[in-house]
Amino acid sequence: MARCLIGCGSNLGKRREQLDRALELLRFMPGVTFLAASRYRETRPVGGPAGQLAFLNGACLIETELSPHAVLEMLAAVENTLHRERHDRWGERTIDLDLLLYDDLVLETTELTVPHPRMATRRFVLEPSAEIAAELAYPPAGCTVGELLDNISATHPLIAVVGVPGSGAPEVAAAVADAVMGRVIHAPAPLPLPTRAEAGLPAGGAAMRWRKMLAAWAEPLDRASWDDDPHPVIADYWFDELALTAADDLEPADLAGFEADFTSQADGIVAPQVAIMLVADQAALTERIAFRSRHSHLHTNVFGDLAVRMADVSDCDRAAALVMFQGRLARRLRCLDGRGPRSPKAVITVDASDLGQAIAEATAAVEAML
Ligand code: ADP
Ligand code: MG
Repeated sequence: MARCLIGCGSNLGKRREQLDRALELLRFMPGVTFLAASRYRETRPVGGPAGQLAFLNGACLIETELSPHAVLEMLAAVENTLHRERHDRWGERTIDLDLLLYDDLVLETTELTVPHPRMATRRFVLEPSAEIAAELAYPPAGCTVGELLDNISATHPLIAVVGVPGSGAPEVAAAVADAVMGRVIHAPAPLPLPTRAEAGLPAGGAAMRWRKMLAAWAEPLDRASWDDDPHPVIADYWFDELALTAADDLEPADLAGFEADFTSQADGIVAPQVAIMLVADQAALTERIAFRSRHSHLHTNVFGDLAVRMADVSDCDRAAALVMFQGRLARRLRCLDGRGPRSPKAVITVDASDLGQAIAEATAAVEAML
């Protein structure tokens, strides 16, 4: 038997009746034991086309022998019974049922992702969920549903937009900050990637440069100087990126010193509650590198973070190196190799190959927490 947490919402037609009907249908499904339902809450629509009516959202907890895919099919069947029509993504709907959690399963297939990939920043999901299932585990962050709600309820949240140079992190962070009236912090210096090939530094030069880099990146996040401005802060970097790049750049002899420095700086900074991980494909990165080298004389800010210094390599090979680093960054961020003390509890992955789409998705993820 598996415990499933299910999120439900409606913003079209008789919302309360439709939610009641959906829960009623679930209650009488064969192989389902109904455990609890939350109250409904009115919430504002997030992310979809403008002009939508307010949602009514709730959550319920069931126990079932059905497989995860069978649960998703059952939810789709209930949606169809209640005349759900799919037009726009995130458009109006008579009913929306999401499989949020299935025990502590973590699954990613084309049709189904569990836990639901956007639940960790959605207040309209977490509030009703915490009402009935605060103690349920959310495996990606090693915490509970209640702790996820606390996480997005920080009085002065820090949201890190994380991505390799050329993923559009500065552009996305600025656009999100604009949309939610937040303050934006840009990385004080571009991430040098990869720099081993960059010869000509004097002995110890690389270690010195990294020490300066650590201090510069820590400064805007210094806990002592962190003000109590109630607006969210959107940074276009994650301090831990430095640990990954430095490991590629430094000689083993210099690495121990760097790591000690890194830890002591990291202890004094504010860690993000939420990260938006931008993932761009190789074609998009190649095009951006080419764009950047063609137009740098125009002093455009677009992809101003692109500082890929690799002599005698094609734009395509540089992009391939970035894609590889992007994979490692995503693994570290999503704690696939162990949780760090500064790992954000909520990580939302966004396709950054299309920047307009990435901005819309990132903005929706952040608006949903406020
Ligand atoms: P949202 O889930 O953000 O409200 P939609 O309901 O419009 O967005 O998207 C639903 C689509 O996402 C479905 O076609 C479904 O196949 C897919 N999907 C993937 N994982 C899940 C999940 N855990 N729960 C519900 N739908 C999911
Ligand atoms: Mg859905």
